[in-house]
Amino acid sequence: MTFKAEYIWIDGTAPTAKLRSKTKILADEAKGAELPLWGFDGSSTNQAKGHASDRVLKPVFTCPDPIRGGADILVLCEVLNTDMTPHESNTRAELAETEARFGAQEPIFGIEQEYTFFEGDRPLGFPVGGFPAAQGGYYCGVGADEIFGRDVVEAHLENCLKAGLGISGINAEVMPGQWEFQVGPLAPLEVSDQLWIARWLLYRTAEDFKVSATLDPKPVKGDWNGAGAHTNFSTKAMREGYAPIITACEALGEGSKPLDHVKNYGAGIDDRLTGLHETAPWDEYKYGVSDRGASVRIPWQVEVEQKGYIEDRRPNANVDPYVVTRLLVDTCCAALEK
Ligand code: ADP
Ligand code: MN
Ligand code: MN
Ligand code: MN
Ligand code: MN
Repeated sequence: MTFKAEYIWIDGTAPTAKLRSKTKILADEAKGAELPLWGFDGSSTNQAKGHASDRVLKPVFTCPDPIRGGADILVLCEVLNTDMTPHESNTRAELAETEARFGAQEPIFGIEQEYTFFEGDRPLGFPVGGFPAAQGGYYCGVGADEIFGRDVVEAHLENCLKAGLGISGINAEVMPGQWEFQVGPLAPLEVSDQLWIARWLLYRTAEDFKVSATLDPKPVKGDWNGAGAHTNFSTKAMREGYAPIITACEALGEGSKPLDHVKNYGAGIDDRLTGLHETAPWDEYKYGVSDRGASVRIPWQVEVEQKGYIEDRRPNANVDPYVVTRLLVDTCCAALEK
């Protein structure tokens, strides 16, 4: 007998990579063994020119496939060149090095993934040719006048749980049709791999409802909230004391760090980090307790308990989790090592 393995990978589309996948039929004997490498045509995914376009898929994370069920699996892959070096679009390889270097500090992350449902060219809940009532009642709302797409959201949550992902919650967001799920807290590679799978499951689940989901950081211009990916971060020392929390916040503000981070926090960051709609301007860095207008927030319980974690509020919804977790570990763990 056989089972189906959905090989999923991150492509080379600029400025924001897309997910791709295809199905491999495997013999039952393959179960439990190391999954085989596979190949694809990189010229169709912005990962190669027409000549010499073969690229290699190397499985890095596997979980049950909640859509197909049974023995079928989802297989997240990293992309390699045919000489087995990481392809230039492969940001996971660099995170693996960073995690190996600073793993002793036990960094963990919880990422809040915001996204927006679309039906055709309109956000779900937006009337044809117009706008819904202004923001105010939608965030964590209830009722058909405030909530659009809950059936899709519930199906996605169920699929993430069936896949065994470390999803920790969901909520309706400030703009109609906008939602959030959180993954973590988990180690850098774990949270990133699982977030990519959760994104794939979001698109795949919504597909059956004839709805699309987008990570566009500013899907509606004007007085409507953007979509972010607040990244919550701690090390063992931060979970045990307050001084390391301040060290991390200060390190993120040093020299060129604010810009080094922000320019890698997702395409279109300046459209979203305007200083309005619960954001700090992209070209200013500040941290503060309970401050949702700060770049980095120290949650109020963390100040009370004098230990815990910090929330980097800057990453866009379309951020690459392999990149944001690497930058945070690099900057904060290097400072904490001193
Ligand atoms: P918000 O109040 O900003 O909306 P959420 O509840 O949506 O917060 O998300 C908080 C995230 O922080 C969750 O994913 C949670 O798992 C994560 N988190 C909690 N404790 C820690 C910690 N010590 N280190 C890293 N992440 C954490
Ligand atoms: Mn073919
Ligand atoms: Mn949240
Ligand atoms: Mn949110
Ligand atoms: Mn948040």
